[in-house]
Amino acid sequence: MDKKPLVAITGASSGIGESTARAFSAAGHPLLLMARRLDRLKALNLPNAVLRQVDVRDRAAIAAAVADAEAEHGPVDMMFANAGIARLGDIAKQPAEDWDEMIDINVKGVMNTVHAVMNGMIERKQGTLVMMSSIAGRKVYPDHTVYCGTKFFVHAVSESLREYLAPHDVRVIVLSPGIIDTEVLDHVKDETTLANYKANKSAIGGGIPADIVGDLILNAYQLPQRALVQEIVITPTRQK
Ligand code: NDP
Repeated sequence: MDKKPLVAITGASSGIGESTARAFSAAGHPLLLMARRLDRLKALNLPNAVLRQVDVRDRAAIAAAVADAEAEHGPVDMMFANAGIARLGDIAKQPAEDWDEMIDINVKGVMNTVHAVMNGMIERKQGTLVMMSSIAGRKVYPDHTVYCGTKFFVHAVSESLREYLAPHDVRVIVLSPGIIDTEVLDHVKDETTLANYKANKSAIGGGIPADIVGDLILNAYQLPQRALVQEIVITPTRQK
């Protein structure tokens, strides 16, 4: 049987990144898994997985991790730029450091991740970038001001990248989830914002499991390279 190509994921230590790692591992792919919590990557216990403690704010660290994994498993065929945080809160009251952190991770971190693999994909005329945006990259929500800004950025860059990379046969998929059950709320420090979010979530019957998202990404990836799912919007049915 042919060896499956290498798939790389940032933020693979929990939530949607972890679920996607499990889905691609079950489909037989070797993996490059990156996150800051190396213990959580190890605990996944997935075969053929190169694990690297990487902060996506560190462009050189992502490039080094990609080089290590490619030396072992061949070129990265899919990069999931997934790592992100949601420091939701009242824009006038939240510390400006929260804005910095979201912009550094959700914006610059995504660009650092794309940078590590884009030229290789262009040279090979083959590859898939999966860009983690959000339903909050399509419309705004209360107390999501800078978070929405970071995710609208991902939408804009992804659309531009899709047009730029199309003639090179490289696919760009934007992922726009609604409320998914992960550790994402652990980032929210503001108690009023957190209480409102939880009340809204409960009113629509809760979030949906992250496994569903991992399986969707796998399904989109497995289409022939000539076929592109440009955007995946996945929300709880009752979410507006
Ligand atoms: P989790 O908090 O479970 O996962 C976030 C992941 O990002 C973790 O693996 C974390 O790993 C990683 N991460 C955070 N900061 C960094 C960093 N500086 N460097 C490297 N890795 C980092 O939440 P989700 O799975 O929900 O979040 C994944 C993505 O999904 C995010 O971009 C989020 O904005 C997006 N999203 C989530 C939705 C939801 O409802 N859950 C809805 C829409 C979008 P570690 O801490 O080990 O570094």
